Amino acid sequence: MRKIQMVDTKTQYLAIKDQVDASIHEVLDSAAYINGKAVKDFAQNLGTYLAAEYVIPCANGTDALQIAMMALDLQPGDEVITPSFTYIATTEVVALLRLTPVFVDVDPVTYCMDLESLKKAITPKTKAIVPVHLYGQAAPMEEIMAIAKEHNIYVIEDNAQAIGCDYTFSDGTKKKTGTIGHIGATSFYPSKNLGAFGDGGALFTNDKALANKMSMIANHGQSERYYHDVVGCNSRLDSIQAAILNIKLAHLDEYSKARQSVAKYYTDAFASITQIVTPAIGKYTTHVFHQYTMQLKGVDRDAFIAHLAAKEIPCMIYYPVPGHLQKMFANQDNRNNKNLDLPVTNALTPCVCSLPIHTEMDAEQLSYIVEGVKSFFN
Ligand SMILES: *Cc1c(COP(=O)(O)O)cnc(C)c1O
Repeated sequence: MRKIQMVDTKTQYLAIKDQVDASIHEVLDSAAYINGKAVKDFAQNLGTYLAAEYVIPCANGTDALQIAMMALDLQPGDEVITPSFTYIATTEVVALLRLTPVFVDVDPVTYCMDLESLKKAITPKTKAIVPVHLYGQAAPMEEIMAIAKEHNIYVIEDNAQAIGCDYTFSDGTKKKTGTIGHIGATSFYPSKNLGAFGDGGALFTNDKALANKMSMIANHGQSERYYHDVVGCNSRLDSIQAAILNIKLAHLDEYSKARQSVAKYYTDAFASITQIVTPAIGKYTTHVFHQYTMQLKGVDRDAFIAHLAAKEIPCMIYYPVPGHLQKMFANQDNRNNKNLDLPVTNALTPCVCSLPIHTEMDAEQLSYIVEGVKSFFN
C-alpha cells in the first residue's frame, strides 16, 4: 500500500506530469517569468471557469485578503467581522491593517459563519464581513449579502478552501463561491484544492473600479509605469505557477469529484459509530471537501490520534485554537478577547479531527483508514 498522507501532491503531479512539464518548459523558453502569457491565460481561464468578470492573480491567499481590504479603503478602527473558527490568515490581515477584527461564531452543522452571531456583531463601525467557506462548503451567502446590503457593508469571501464549490440561491440560480460577495479571495497553496507548486493567490470581482484598484495595489499602486497613485504592495503570481495552475484548472471538477467520493466513503463507513459526527452539507451548497472534518463525541481525541498514528494513518486538527483565543489578539478590546462567548466555536475546537482526503486516494488506503478508525471504537 502507498504511504497514507493528508495530501499527496506528488502522485497527483505524476498523473499529469507530461502536460505540467511541457507548460513549465514553455515558460522557461519564453523567459517571461513575471507577468508572462501564462499568467494572463490563467487569469482568463479562471474567470471563465468561475464566471467572474475580473480575476487578479497575486502572490498568495493572505495577500489576496489584504489587497481586498486595502482596495475598500478601510480605515484604522473600522470593524471587520470574521468567524473565529478559521485559519488565522483571515483575521491576521485585519489586524495587520490596523482594522479591528470582530469574531463571530459558526453554525454547528456547516461550521461556516452563523447568521445570528453575525447580526449581533454589527455596529456603526462595521465596514466589512469576511465569510469563510470552511473545509469546502459555502457560508450562507444569500443571507449574508442581504444583511450586508441592509447595513451598507462590504463582503469579502475567503474562498481559499472552496474553489469550485457551487452556491444555489433561493430562486434556483447558481454561482461559484468567491463570485457572490463584492470581492472573493483565494489561495493556490500546494495543498489547496487548486494548488500550485509554490505560493499563489487570486482575487475575483465583477466590479470594474475595484478590479482596477486591486491590480494597482498588487503592483505598487502603479497606474502607469513609475507613476504610483496609491500605496500598494508587491504581490505577483509568477508565470511558472500560472502555467502549472492552467493545467490543473482543467482537472479541477474531476478533483472535486474525487474528494467527494472519498468523503462519501468515510461518511457511509462511519454511519453506525455514534461517537463520530460526520460532516453535513448545507442545503444551498455543494461541498468540495478541502478537508474531511468530523467531530469526536465523548472520545479522548489524543488517544484516537495516537491509535491512528500507530497504524501510520495521519490526521490533523483544523484548528486547535480559535482566532479569538490566539495570543496575537490578546490586546484587542473586550469584544474580541477571551471573554467573548462563541459557544459553537469553543465546542468544536476540542473535538474536531480531519482525516486524509485528496484526489489520489485508492480503495486499499480508504478501507485501511476506515478499519483503523473503526478498530478504535471496538
Ligand atoms: C490557506 C488559507 C488562507 C491563506 O492562503 P495562503 O496562500 O497560505 O496565504 C486564507 N484563508 C483560509 C481559510 C485558508 O485556508
